[in-house]
Amino acid sequence: MLDTVIVGAGFAGLSAARTLITKGREGFVILEARDRVGGRTKPGVIGNLDIDLGGMWMAPGQARLKRLAAHYRVRPYPTYLDGNAVFRISKRERQGPREDLSRLFGIGGGLAYLHARWKLERLMAPLDTERPWAHPEAERLDAMTVETWIARNVLHPLPRVAFRTVCATILCAEPSQVSLLFFLHYLKSGGGLEVLISSDTGGAQNLLFHGGVHQISRFMADEIGERLRLEAAVSAIEWNDDAVTVHSERGRFTARKAIIAVPPTLLRRIRFTPELPQPKTAIHDRLSMGSSIKFWVLYRTPFWRKRGLNGTILRDDVPTTPIMDVSPTGQDRGLLVGFFDGNHAIRHADLTTEDRRIVVLEMLAEHFGPEALRPLDYIDHDWTDEEWSGGCYGAYAPPGVFARYGEHLRIPIGPLHWAGTETASEWTGYIEGAIQSGERAAGEIMRAMPVQNDGSA
Ligand SMILES: Cc1cc2nc3c(=O)[nH]c(=O)nc-3n(C[C@H](O)[C@H](O)[C@H](O)COP(=O)(O)OP(=O)(O)OC[C@H]3O[C@@H](n4cnc5c(N)ncnc54)[C@H](O)[C@@H]3O)c2cc1C
Repeated sequence: MLDTVIVGAGFAGLSAARTLITKGREGFVILEARDRVGGRTKPGVIGNLDIDLGGMWMAPGQARLKRLAAHYRVRPYPTYLDGNAVFRISKRERQGPREDLSRLFGIGGGLAYLHARWKLERLMAPLDTERPWAHPEAERLDAMTVETWIARNVLHPLPRVAFRTVCATILCAEPSQVSLLFFLHYLKSGGGLEVLISSDTGGAQNLLFHGGVHQISRFMADEIGERLRLEAAVSAIEWNDDAVTVHSERGRFTARKAIIAVPPTLLRRIRFTPELPQPKTAIHDRLSMGSSIKFWVLYRTPFWRKRGLNGTILRDDVPTTPIMDVSPTGQDRGLLVGFFDGNHAIRHADLTTEDRRIVVLEMLAEHFGPEALRPLDYIDHDWTDEEWSGGCYGAYAPPGVFARYGEHLRIPIGPLHWAGTETASEWTGYIEGAIQSGERAAGEIMRAMPVQNDGSA
C-alpha cells in the first residue's frame, strides 16, 4: 500500500509532493487529469516569447514562490511602471502614476475613496485569515454582497465605480455576486486592498518571470519523476478511517492517506464512497469560479512609452481592462497583457479570437494612436472553457456560505486532506496560496503518519 495519493498537479499538489520528497516520504503517487502539470498556470508563446496564459505575477513578499523561483533559477523582472497610467472611470479620464487612485477623483471623490478604504480596513482588522468565519461579525458580513457594502459606504459616484471595477479585476466576478466576508478574507490574506491592486514595489502585479512562472511547475514535476501520472483523471474515491482507494484513468491506487488538490468547484465530479459530510458538500457546491479571458498583444517596440505612458489602462466603460506593459527587460519588443474579467469574460467567450482582437486593438488605439492597430501578434486564452479549471483566478463565495461552511474547505475527513489555493490562509487565490496549502497538507499527513524507528511511515 502507498502512503499517499495526491490528486491534482497544480502548484498545490506539486508543492505537497515536493514537501514529502524533501522529508524522505517517497511512497506516493500524484494523479493529474491533464496531459501537463501546472493547472491554472499554463505555457504559451507569442512571437518568439514564452509567456504565461494563466497565473503569472509574483508579489515581492511571496516568500514561498520567491524561494522556488530562486531554487530553479527562474528570473523575475518588473512590470513596467515609468510614466503615466490611463484611468477612465465614470467618463472621466485622468493620467497619472498607476497607484494613485485617490487622486483621480478630485478632492471630494478622493476623500470618499480614502474614507471607504479606511472602513474596509477597520472591518478587516479583527479578521483572522486562518479562521475568517470566526470574525465577530461573520454572519452579518457574510449576509451582504460587496455591492451592497459599496452602495452603503462609498459616498461618491467616482470611487464607487472604482471599487466595483477593482472587485471585478481582483476576483473576476461582479461585486453583486460576492460575499463581503469572503472579499475581506481574500484581501487580508494577500496583505490588503492596496497590495492586491498594485504593480508597484510590494504589489501583487509587481514581478513576472522571464520564460514564465509555469516553468517552475515543470521543474517540480521533473523532481517527482515517475510518481507523477498524467492523463489520470480521478473519477471516484473510496475511503474509510484506515485507507483510501482512488480510481483514475490510469488505474486504481490504494494508500493510507490522500491529498486532494483540485479546485473545490470541481470536486463534485469525483464520486466519494461513503459520501462526504453535508457541510463539506455544501461549501463545494455553493462556491463559484471567476471568469476571465487573458490576452496578449506583441508590438515591434513599446511605442506608448514615447507618449509618456506606461501601458497601464484601467477603464469602467470597456470590457478589455486592466492592461499592463509586461515587455521583458533586455529586449526591444513591446508586450501588453490584459483581461476580459467577470461578466465581460462571459459575454465575450462566444466571440471568435479575431472579434476579440478587434475590440482590444480599437481600445488600445484610442490611447496609444493608430500604431496600436498593427501588432506583430495577438493571442488570448479563455479560462471559462478549461475543463479541469472551470474558470479562474479562483473560486469565490456568494453570500450566506462562507461564515457557515467555510471551515470545511480545509478540515481533514478521515484519511482525506485538502489542498488548493482556495484552502490557503495566506494569498488565497494566488500561486503563493497554492504552495502554502500544499505544504500545509503534506505537514498534516506527516504528523498523522510519524516515521517509525525502522524507517517506515
Ligand atoms: C488567467 C489567470 C491569471 C492568474 N494570474 C495570477 C497571477 O498573476 N499571480 C498569481 O499568483 N496567481 C494568478 N492566478 C491564480 C493561480 O494561477 C492559481 O491560484 C494557482 O495556480 C492555483 O493552483 P492550485 O494548485 O491550487 O490549483 P490548479 O492550478 O487548478 O491545480 C489543480 C489541478 O488539479 C487537476 N484536476 C482537477 N480535477 C482533477 C481530477 N478529477 N483528477 C485529477 N486531476 C484533477 C487540474 O487539472 C489541475 O492541474 C491566475 C490564474 C489564471 C487562470
